[in-house]
Amino acid sequence: MKNLWSAEEASNYKTDLELRVYSSNLLGQSDELVLHGGGNTSVKSMVDGEEILYVKGSGWDLVSIKAEGFSPVKMLILLEMAKLEKLSDSEMVRGQKEAMIDGSAPNPSVEAILHALIPFKVVDHTHADAIVTISNSVNGQEYIAELFPNFLIVPYIMPGFLLAHEIYKMTRDFDWDGCEGIILHNHGIFTFDDDAKRSYDKMIEAVTKAEEFLTENAQLTFDTVEPTGFDMQRLKSAIKEAKGHKVVLKLNQTALALHYASNPNLEEFATRGVLTPEHIIRTKHQPLIVLENEVEEDIEAYMEGYRAYFEAFATDEIMLNPAPNYAVVKDFGVILFGKSEKEVNVLNDIVEHTMMAVLRADKLGGYESISMADSFAMEYWELEQAKLK
Ligand SMILES: [Zn+2]
Repeated sequence: MKNLWSAEEASNYKTDLELRVYSSNLLGQSDELVLHGGGNTSVKSMVDGEEILYVKGSGWDLVSIKAEGFSPVKMLILLEMAKLEKLSDSEMVRGQKEAMIDGSAPNPSVEAILHALIPFKVVDHTHADAIVTISNSVNGQEYIAELFPNFLIVPYIMPGFLLAHEIYKMTRDFDWDGCEGIILHNHGIFTFDDDAKRSYDKMIEAVTKAEEFLTENAQLTFDTVEPTGFDMQRLKSAIKEAKGHKVVLKLNQTALALHYASNPNLEEFATRGVLTPEHIIRTKHQPLIVLENEVEEDIEAYMEGYRAYFEAFATDEIMLNPAPNYAVVKDFGVILFGKSEKEVNVLNDIVEHTMMAVLRADKLGGYESISMADSFAMEYWELEQAKLK
């Protein structure tokens, strides 16, 4: 993984926040680190004698974030919130908002409390492909422990307050100086330092280590696959009908997509869940699998399965549209569905990174993502549901 830091450019940035913007943009430039709104960063700085956490605001992408994309939040309040035995994520969001010193700034990231708990000035968090690929493999726990002996390793836990409080408990009597970073299983990685460059360097070094491990143990070669014929128009009509609105389709027939779609056990192979939890909002837990041209029946069966999944886990949630967001069509390729060109392109990027991870994790013994229950908790997160209610 290339280190993009330029001492010359960095020398133009004097304040904590200017440097924070610079290294956030660098992290955002590597799509092996973060994709479309993924990841978050922060810097702790003194403002009028008070310690303030400038943390990525929601709605901003690291690649293009500017100073005004960071929310200034009082550290003392975040650290008090971390100690609470119980706090819903809606209450957490409200509390974080009330702790902002500038009411016009965007809402702080839901990982703000976690950033506050890390006692270093600069904190970087990404969903690096190489890290989550290894973590999402059946032997992921052992591999990660071997590769990162000096990291704090955290088993999967739902992002938001639960995760922040868990880190609080894990680090009450903790030797932070001996800790090189944090790995959140099935989710991502944190690095930190009092120096912006060092924190960025640590991220690149850790991810490079994971990439080298994959190069050694999970080399991929793609079969040459001649795509078969398939009626895209028929699929488009059926998806439009299922979703109840107009859809844009994007066909992916790259060597990766064709190789992926040619797997002989597609129904088991291509339905093993998300690469990092936040993807579920866009991809759902699994795609539509099309083996023959019977797309109407396949979509009907998919939606039935989705309703059963909803029924199995729902308490008082509102069900999302049960239609699939993308399809893997046997020996033809991957087809993404969205409301706009922009949406299908974002989805395509996410699915491409997921396909690579699945194939590589299979080389390590098998791809294994979070459970259905954890997927549901993420897909039906109260913060997402609040937007519907
Ligand atoms: Zn994250």
